[in-house]
Amino acid sequence: MTGPKLLSGHGRGDYAEARLAEFVANCRRKKMAVTPQRLAVLRALLESGDHPHADRIYAHVRREHPHISLATVHRTLERLCDVGEANKVTPLHETARYDGNTRPHHHVVCVRCKRVEDLEAPEFDTLLIMSVEPGFGGQAFIPEVLVKVGIARRLVDSGELTILVEIDGGVNEDTIEQAAAAGVDCFVAGSAVYGADDPAAAVRSLRQQAAAVSPHLRL
Ligand SMILES: [Zn+2]
Repeated sequence: MTGPKLLSGHGRGDYAEARLAEFVANCRRKKMAVTPQRLAVLRALLESGDHPHADRIYAHVRREHPHISLATVHRTLERLCDVGEANKVTPLHETARYDGNTRPHHHVVCVRCKRVEDLEAPEFDTLLIMSVEPGFGGQAFIPEVLVKVGIARRLVDSGELTILVEIDGGVNEDTIEQAAAAGVDCFVAGSAVYGADDPAAAVRSLRQQAAAVSPHLRL
């Protein structure tokens, strides 16, 4: 099993070559023109490790294509996003930042300089937030943990994290709505289900309560 890793410069070079070949094949299939400018913009984006904004790509591409305009670079980046060849990483920055890495990945962001690095950790698909002290069943829900849920939810909604937000501990008919409203995707309930006269009915009712207040959960 490979552990989480920051994408190295070396890995990025191989990835860039593979993606450029894929891009050409995709364009042919979609009947989209493969212009030297489009290739140059995508190459500059793929080779850059720091989720650059359009100005940085422009400065890079201009060396080989002195007549390209900043507007063309902006348009090309937007077009690449539209067709799924790139993504925007905007929420933490005032100007749009672009990402050529289209594999599912997380971002590690420096809170001081706002530098963004890719973190490839496909093994992690769920973030479990404990809402009781781990140990024994039947404890009371700790509402303060919903602050953590809110932070995780914002990171997921902004695309910084691709992960399910799960909560475990004290989840029952009195608490599930606040957890769902705060942004939990996945609920672990013990006593509220196994202690009920009809466990299946208890699950159905908890699901309904959660879905009714959550903007993104569906039954
Ligand atoms: Zn990224």
